[in-house]
Amino acid sequence: MEKKQFQAESKRLLEMMINSIYTQKEIFLRELISNASDAIDKIYYKALTDDSLVFDKDNYFIKVIPNKENRTLTITDTGIGMSKEDLESHLGVIAKSGSLAFKKENEAKDGHNIIGQFGVGFYSAFMVADVVTVISKALGSDTAYKWESTGADGYTIEPTHKDSVGTEIILKIKENTEDESYDEYLEEYRLKSIIKKYSDFIRYPIKMDVSGK
Ligand code: ADP
Ligand code: MG
Repeated sequence: MEKKQFQAESKRLLEMMINSIYTQKEIFLRELISNASDAIDKIYYKALTDDSLVFDKDNYFIKVIPNKENRTLTITDTGIGMSKEDLESHLGVIAKSGSLAFKKENEAKDGHNIIGQFGVGFYSAFMVADVVTVISKALGSDTAYKWESTGADGYTIEPTHKDSVGTEIILKIKENTEDESYDEYLEEYRLKSIIKKYSDFIRYPIKMDVSGK
């Protein structure tokens, strides 16, 4: 198992997310669903030019799986997946450091509401989860990898097993605190309403699968 540190800029954004002052924590789901949809788009566009790939639309969907017993919320997609290198380069660093600078600049002007308007990306998962696990198998790869992080102290990557191509993101939902409740992110009705609010336009089916009730 390899343990790595986040890059300085990523670390700053992570800290912002973990100690989030933002009220709209719910947008983490929009971000993860949008990434899932992007990953399916990537397979779709590849299939347009690659005859060996057939895009059968029934095979492409996103799943949201709350599990109260384990206190996990899992988001899966049948998209293009991530290789070990992808996990390192896409989740280990901030891809768009420009947008971070932009956010910082505007935050000063507009309080903390800016987060609702711009993509904040994958790290927003840390607003509601204290452990984030990503299990992914890239298209064309035999090996799947598991990326895991509790936030500030870096992340680990190790080989794992996954049958199909795609990505599974497992959020270990935070325990409630005196002034903050996280239980709602395990409630089916609440998740459905967040999905309706932010992800209604997504072109692929978003299925809900409730386990461990
Ligand atoms: P953005 O979506 O704006 O690029 P994110 O922080 O949301 O920024 O995601 C960073 C990158 O991580 C994505 O660009 C993509 O390459 C990769 N990624 C995240 N989630 C997934 C996923 N479910 N499947 C494949 N790649 C993903
Ligand atoms: Mg994104």
